[in-house]
Amino acid sequence: MTPYGSIFGEMLEEFELAARILNLERGIWNILTHPKRQIIVSCPVQMDSGEIEVFTGYRVQYNITLGPAKGGIRYHPGVTLDEVTALAAWMTWKCAVAHIPFGGGKGGVVCDPSKMSRRELEALTRRYIAEIIDAIGPEKDVPAPDVNTNEQVMAWIMDTYSMHVGHTTTSVVTGKPVELGGSHGRREATGRGVTIAARESARHLGFDISGSRVAIQGFGNVGSVSAELIAALGAKIVAVTDWQGGVYNAAGLDLTKLAAHVANQKTVAGFAGGEPLTNAELFALDVDLLVPAALENQITIENAPGIRAKVVIEGANGPTTPEAHRHLHTRGVFVVPDILANSGGVTASYFEWVQDRYGYFWTEKEVNERLEAKMHEAFGAVLQTSLKYHVDMRTAAYIVAVGRVATVTRLRGMYA
Ligand code: NAD
Repeated sequence: MTPYGSIFGEMLEEFELAARILNLERGIWNILTHPKRQIIVSCPVQMDSGEIEVFTGYRVQYNITLGPAKGGIRYHPGVTLDEVTALAAWMTWKCAVAHIPFGGGKGGVVCDPSKMSRRELEALTRRYIAEIIDAIGPEKDVPAPDVNTNEQVMAWIMDTYSMHVGHTTTSVVTGKPVELGGSHGRREATGRGVTIAARESARHLGFDISGSRVAIQGFGNVGSVSAELIAALGAKIVAVTDWQGGVYNAAGLDLTKLAAHVANQKTVAGFAGGEPLTNAELFALDVDLLVPAALENQITIENAPGIRAKVVIEGANGPTTPEAHRHLHTRGVFVVPDILANSGGVTASYFEWVQDRYGYFWTEKEVNERLEAKMHEAFGAVLQTSLKYHVDMRTAAYIVAVGRVATVTRLRGMYA
């Protein structure tokens, strides 16, 4: 039943646990374990050298039962169709947990942006979007940033789409600069959601988040904002790593100085305000909270036994393998799953899409208050489900998500 051995297989394992508890009928089970659409495109780009290179791009619309597909676009040399499909499925469950009217999608381009000029990146972005243009749109599929894509890339996407349809269409993509239809608070929203999940977990487990010790893997959008906002609750960020290494300071890192170092050096490694630390060492630190906020499959059965944190808040998508998760749960580690923990980003994306369609924009305070309410609702629904069925938070999140998508699938009936 479970084609384990792929990232999509891991997603299926998580899905199956919930589907069994829900007694999901075979037909709905079948629908929800198949991607609706998988698009593969070749994107020729003239490089600065004059040579033409062809990049492979993917866009997967996993399920659009609840609304338009929603999900980021990732630029990374390791992108595969399997990975993008799993990420699109996770987006389906995430939007359902967050209780927003979106399905799940994801995109990726196999490329190494660190070796590309700004002009090459713009050309690649525009060509990739032109290749998938018929499949995207405010009512169809609304991309957003992910690893190695940012506000500028979203602006190029919005412009490319608008040029093709002949009028400005801000609601085709989220995570845009505020000046062209972006939402206040969107940039910080994933980290803000991670912080709310951390605060609610500590409250549920009965410990004080202020004074607690925190380790974070990844210091990009999610990791750096989580660090700043969790520290603002009085916690100490004692360790941060990224793709080049990391830094540890038992007294707590100076985040302002660390951010300045990263702005200059493009990595936390080599920061003078602490001792060097590897990614392997980060996972074994004696901390209260561990926030993986980099890539998938970082917590495995090899390093899980060494984890000493009470709580793991999954800022990244799929950072814990199912085997490692079972191990952590057995040892009593409270894991807040990705589809809940990092859903603040897609919730704020939903707010951005709503504002673009209205043409009426909210203040940052309004966005943050609405985000707080949605995250609070989602965390509460998952926690109550976990207590009701005596299951871990991940299975509970899937029960909530799969249950919602299954209900709407039954209500809509079969088109044949
Ligand atoms: P980002 O590109 O801004 O940052 C990624 C960080 O991970 C960087 O600090 C990078 O150095 C580090 N990293 C990369 N490879 C690594 C490795 N092998 N070992 C250790 N560190 C490594 O990306 P982001 O937007 O912060 O996304 C991080 C994760 O969060 C991804 O899994 C993404 O899917 C997920 N996510 C992002 C958002 C969002 O709004 N940006 C929302 C939900 C989920």
